[in-house]
Amino acid sequence: MLAQGMKTLVTIKGLEKHFPIRKGIFSRVTGYVKAVDGVDLAIGEGETMGLVGESGCGKTTLGRTVLRLLEPTAGEVSFDGKNLLTLKKKELRALRKEMQVIFQDPYSSLNPRITVGGMIGEALKIHRLAKGEEARTRTGELLELVGLAPQAARLYPHEFSGGQRQRIGIARALAVSPRFIVCDEPVSALDVSIQAQIINLLVDLQKELNLTYLFIAHDLRIVEHMSNRVAVMYLGKIVELASSDELYRKPLHPYTVALMSAIPVPVPGKKGTRIILKGDVPSPANPPSGCHFHPRCPEAVNDCSTVTPALEEVSPDHFASCILLKK
Ligand code: SF4
Repeated sequence: MLAQGMKTLVTIKGLEKHFPIRKGIFSRVTGYVKAVDGVDLAIGEGETMGLVGESGCGKTTLGRTVLRLLEPTAGEVSFDGKNLLTLKKKELRALRKEMQVIFQDPYSSLNPRITVGGMIGEALKIHRLAKGEEARTRTGELLELVGLAPQAARLYPHEFSGGQRQRIGIARALAVSPRFIVCDEPVSALDVSIQAQIINLLVDLQKELNLTYLFIAHDLRIVEHMSNRVAVMYLGKIVELASSDELYRKPLHPYTVALMSAIPVPVPGKKGTRIILKGDVPSPANPPSGCHFHPRCPEAVNDCSTVTPALEEVSPDHFASCILLKK
């Protein structure tokens, strides 16, 4: 549940994104990769919703499907009460500027042949927000907002460090005054020394501009620092959802418990007991029966291979999908 008085900005209901697997000379569909497989989530205005899980669990696909950068297979996504999936092209384009994305790799997400000013100016022009001198002034303001000099507008992406390039990516996302940003692993390609600067920048911008984030990352400590609530994803489904404080203090789902056990304990001489999960995440093209986590779960019982647990409220505002956790 959202914090008291918080308005829901993004509502996701039964969202699915299945990619067809094609084989043979006729490219016949022989199966589906169920990257996102029935996700329900509500994100409040001004909130940061963290999204964690191992590689291949569907986090990035979920972020892109929410923004309709990928067309969903089924389900609903509403932004400020408007169903994004039924909007006409023109209405969707108008709403697009309210929802932006910051990518993992700042270098490949920036066009190397266009100056920084050209890139930000293009975003302003496409959405008819400013042109000419007005666009140049706005570009300078945006660069200052993310901690760069306005003169950076004249330079090309290769003339910047990784951290500076991510600042440019953030400035470009902010150019259209969005309300919701999907931050897709925004610091994982950066040096550890630079990560904190970008995280602090995102936190400051959120306060200043009342931004709402879906913050996708595999670094659990960064997600804890950033997020009001955290959703844990496994094989296309949310398996646990709670406030950040609650989830890190008292993880309930065996998958979350194993993820948390891998966080280094910052107390000299004190060792945590790490739970090593068996094998890799199974293929979402052929997920295990029952609870998808059962082949790797240290707590699995016989029923786990036949019963599919639903995400249920186990304690106030703390949801998990595990047959051992039923109230
Ligand atoms: Fe583990 Fe069974 Fe719970 Fe799934 S339902 S998390 S396999 S105990």
